[in-house]
Amino acid sequence: MTDAFGRKHDYLRISLTERCNLRCFYCMPAEGIPLRPKDHFMRTEEIISIAKTFVELGVKKIRLTGGEPLIRKDADSIIKQLSELPIELGITTNGILVDQFIDCFEESGLKAINVSLDSLQHEKMASITRRDYFNRIMSNIQLLIDRGFDVKVNTVVMRGTNDDEITDFIEWTRNTNVHVRFIEFMPFGGNDWDWSKGVSLDEILSRTTDRFGAFGFERITDRANDTSKNYRLKGGIGTFAVISSVTNPFCDTCNRIRLTADGKLKNCLFSNSETDLLTSLRAGNNILELIQDNILNKRSMRGGMDSISDFSNPALNQQNRSMVAIGG
Ligand code: SAM
Ligand code: SF4
Repeated sequence: MTDAFGRKHDYLRISLTERCNLRCFYCMPAEGIPLRPKDHFMRTEEIISIAKTFVELGVKKIRLTGGEPLIRKDADSIIKQLSELPIELGITTNGILVDQFIDCFEESGLKAINVSLDSLQHEKMASITRRDYFNRIMSNIQLLIDRGFDVKVNTVVMRGTNDDEITDFIEWTRNTNVHVRFIEFMPFGGNDWDWSKGVSLDEILSRTTDRFGAFGFERITDRANDTSKNYRLKGGIGTFAVISSVTNPFCDTCNRIRLTADGKLKNCLFSNSETDLLTSLRAGNNILELIQDNILNKRSMRGGMDSISDFSNPALNQQNRSMVAIGG
């Protein structure tokens, strides 16, 4: 699955559902997203079948996402069946249901768990997510750490909302074995994005220097295809990182593709063009060529929004699905 720019794609993210038990304002439009009949979405056996085709084509890593993947009734069966494939399996979750799935994670050897947490303050977290689950999320993060999982915490940084907590999150990593990843706020359908609400990699680093001093933290090695720039407080147990999709995109080394819950292949988070794999699969067709064509048509950068002015243009950046319906 090599594209026209020589990028090899071996990492698939599969969205298990568009539904969610939170309503994070940067991800889900205030009015929610229209509900569609169940048969528009992939059934368990279809997910497994499509995943197997991707593995044949060279996928080595699969991450489950959504909406909230763990609200899907058969999530445990999907996790167990996928864990039998020769891949590294991970999941991105809001953490609310982690305690109910922790045994399933352990039995399936699923170690890489990303939990979203945008504030360390109870009330602020409730206002961002429009629901009150802070205590449960925090206790589930602790449970994952105690049970030896590799826990990454995803934090979308937004000016005037949680940017005052950047250094509190970093301080948290001093004595806690978590990897906090600050994500620059990105535009998706219905999230009312403009970059004045975003906080850049440079600004995050300069605030870190102000609080901890230039020698209080250090850069650590990034892994191949890493989307983040990684750091550690000197002497810290945990680590922190910045994912700078807006100010410093990592498109050159992108190895990712996405399968939406309704069975569409997206070769970029920001791409508007989608390939309908589910309808072809149901018609009994071979989806292999469709997948290869889709990859060959991948644009060099952010679904074709090459410049920051394109990326900031609502006429272009709001044509995409909302994030909850893509699968981040
Ligand atoms: N519900 C799960 C969760 O919240 O982790 C998985 C799905 S969620 C769409 C995946 C990730 O996308 C989350 O870490 C979330 O913070 C991130 N995300 C959603 N909207 C975003 C935006 N506008 N900019 C940056 N990251 C975003
Ligand atoms: Fe749900 Fe995750 Fe989106 Fe929040 S970020 S609304 S938890 S899908």
